[in-house]
Amino acid sequence: MSDKVAAVEGDTVSGLLAEIEDIGRDPQRGGYSRPVHSSAEHELREWFIAHAEKRGLEVEVDRNGAIWAWHAPDGSHDDAIVTGSHLDSVPGGGAFDGPLGVASALVAFDVLRRRGALGRRPLAIVVFPEEEGSRFGVACLGSRLMTGAIDPDRARALTDADGNTFAEIVARGGLDPAHLGPDPEALARMAVFVELHVEQGRGLIDLDRPVAVASSILGHGRWRVTIAGEGNHAGTTLMCDRRDPMVAAGRLVSRIRDLARGHSAARATVGRLVPTPGGTNVIASRVDLWVDVRHPDDTVTTVLVEQVRQAAILLAAEEGCDAVLVEESFSPTVDFDAGLRDVLVATLSDAPVLGTGAGHDAGVLKDSVPTAMLFVRNPSGVSHSPSEHVEVDDAEAGAVALADALSACGRPGRGC
Ligand SMILES: [Zn+2]
Repeated sequence: MSDKVAAVEGDTVSGLLAEIEDIGRDPQRGGYSRPVHSSAEHELREWFIAHAEKRGLEVEVDRNGAIWAWHAPDGSHDDAIVTGSHLDSVPGGGAFDGPLGVASALVAFDVLRRRGALGRRPLAIVVFPEEEGSRFGVACLGSRLMTGAIDPDRARALTDADGNTFAEIVARGGLDPAHLGPDPEALARMAVFVELHVEQGRGLIDLDRPVAVASSILGHGRWRVTIAGEGNHAGTTLMCDRRDPMVAAGRLVSRIRDLARGHSAARATVGRLVPTPGGTNVIASRVDLWVDVRHPDDTVTTVLVEQVRQAAILLAAEEGCDAVLVEESFSPTVDFDAGLRDVLVATLSDAPVLGTGAGHDAGVLKDSVPTAMLFVRNPSGVSHSPSEHVEVDDAEAGAVALADALSACGRPGRGC
């Protein structure tokens, strides 16, 4: 990290984030709720486009709704160095997950321009939509569509909690849903993708460093369990006459925890459970719950998910109910491009190499484009929560590290 914060003039990462600190605040949950194609996310997209245009970058929105801001002095987009992240959030998320990478990309561009290091090679900042999957259930939906990792028909049919399809929502956002899907031209022009992200664990706290280079992403996926019983009256239905899916769901949640504890390094989480119809004085007719499972060895994930499926069927049967488990998404363990990682490690000499248990667009792109990630220290060690935090100096150090990384990627002979 060759520059000090004081050397950075104009926009700062913390200054940019301060501009959007009131957008999408969630008074119920705390923090931010910025689901894809909500008014909050649209406002953030406009904010990004304004900053890109202020820098003279050429802005385009691709067929899947990703925003690209180009420095392309010769008009060509080929062999581009690309950075970026996302602007959507989980419900009640923190201020940094996503926007930190976008703001840092803008500031890194400024740093490179001040250094006279932009050159003729195209450089782009990209903002991916629906990274969190908080509205339509599939994480990294934009990058999955771009790479073909999700069938566009399946994506178009995804529904949000209000029953709107993804196709309807993207059409309202001004995109043609018929054009959703693989975008080999967009991928082919990327020589490299480097995403900066807030660290979502404690690695950098323990190492007392501001910035890390990523080694890998834990394999992870989401499965929906639907338990169907019999809806009925809470007052008139005797306990012995009930087929209550909520009881089975409650038992399943603790069983999933126990099953995950049986596999070293496994993580399994039920963070969302939706009863139908959801009345206080109503025995539910159906409960949907979502299980997030992560493990470095994908075969262990398969075994654990099968154990969950069998437990769901058994526990549902004990309550006179039926259970079905359906995979919604799965991303195998990702090892980032080793050559690119080595370039970044050599460039950022005091940056450790860390793995992560969190999924990212960079992980989805990895099979199509050489990808790398930088993590910036989060002193709370907590993410997907209002407690997520980044100190001002670390944020600026991250942007300078990103500039250094992009510069190293663009240097001839560096394998990028
Ligand atoms: Zn993120």
